[in-house]
Amino acid sequence: HSDVDPTAQVEDRDYEAALRPKRLTEFEGQPRVREQLGLVLDAARHRGTSPDHVLLSGPPGLGKTTLAMIIAAELGVNLRISSGPAIQHAGDLAAILSGLDEGEVLFLDEIHRLSRPAEEMLYLAMEDFRVDVIVGKGPGATAIPIELPPFTLVGATTRAGLLPGPLRDRFGFTAQLDFYDAADLAGIVAGSAAKLGVPIDSHSQGEIARRSRGTPRIANRLLRRVRDFSQVKGHPEVTRDVARAALELYEVDERGLDRLDRAVLDVLTRLFDGGPVGLSTLALSVGEEIETVAEVAEPFLIREGLLVRTPRGRVATRAGYAHLGRRPPAANPA
Ligand code: ATP
Repeated sequence: HSDVDPTAQVEDRDYEAALRPKRLTEFEGQPRVREQLGLVLDAARHRGTSPDHVLLSGPPGLGKTTLAMIIAAELGVNLRISSGPAIQHAGDLAAILSGLDEGEVLFLDEIHRLSRPAEEMLYLAMEDFRVDVIVGKGPGATAIPIELPPFTLVGATTRAGLLPGPLRDRFGFTAQLDFYDAADLAGIVAGSAAKLGVPIDSHSQGEIARRSRGTPRIANRLLRRVRDFSQVKGHPEVTRDVARAALELYEVDERGLDRLDRAVLDVLTRLFDGGPVGLSTLALSVGEEIETVAEVAEPFLIREGLLVRTPRGRVATRAGYAHLGRRPPAANPA
């Protein structure tokens, strides 16, 4: 959200594809998920069948798309990609499902945003490998069953709780992705730097890792900005001072807060006396989409203990005030 230049975003997407680990063994961090998923895939390979449907849940940028690609690669099958918002009607989903070949992996990103009719069609497809296509309207309408080849659905969602129970229950395995620690992120930065051919010392890797808010996508993005800076300024190698200067220029502070995070805290403490204030008011005040504030800024601020969610709204904590160098009002409840 902090890259406003559309061409930069296209460039970022290309890099993202190039930097993606291709196999499970190259996937850094998340040891529990790696082990569990590895078992699911190994067992399916042994039996010579498609594995159970897999649900990947976790905040954006932690590797859900990457894992879906890895699942298909490990199984040696094709991957089809779509998303909840892209599927307008149940018919769109029927077309995707009936076009699948045996054993293929279908990745549905933002699966919590499927329409109700599409979701109901998916229940049957996941369980019985069948869809009922309704032909005609009113009393004369008939359901024509279409058999589907066995396939594996990989669904992705920011929170498993957003999914209706019946849909969640139809996944045989749910992988909950957590934020990465600084050591794992430093490893990801080192790997990406090697792929991009950027000479970088270990201090700088740590500096970038610490400011990446636990998120590989952000780590890779910050690395590219640091690389731009060091190339343009003519530094042969990225050292800690170069990395710091670059990150300061891009307004990423020592704790990894970017402009939006600081704007949320700023508005909360300056305009609303620290809260409580509702999410939509907060989003409006910083000029951002509710979803962006709810799914990108807020989880990070909560995790850092700078903001808390109460039944009456969002409240800035003492640490939140302190981070901005402000004093909380005497009666601040948090
Ligand atoms: P979104 O839901 O927002 O699309 P995502 O969870 O699907 O996010 P990805 O697109 O898979 O995230 O990952 C973002 C970037 O981070 C990719 O470029 C990928 O290379 C990198 N990445 C993610 N996880 C890892 C990891 N465990 N090891 C190395 N690189 C990773």
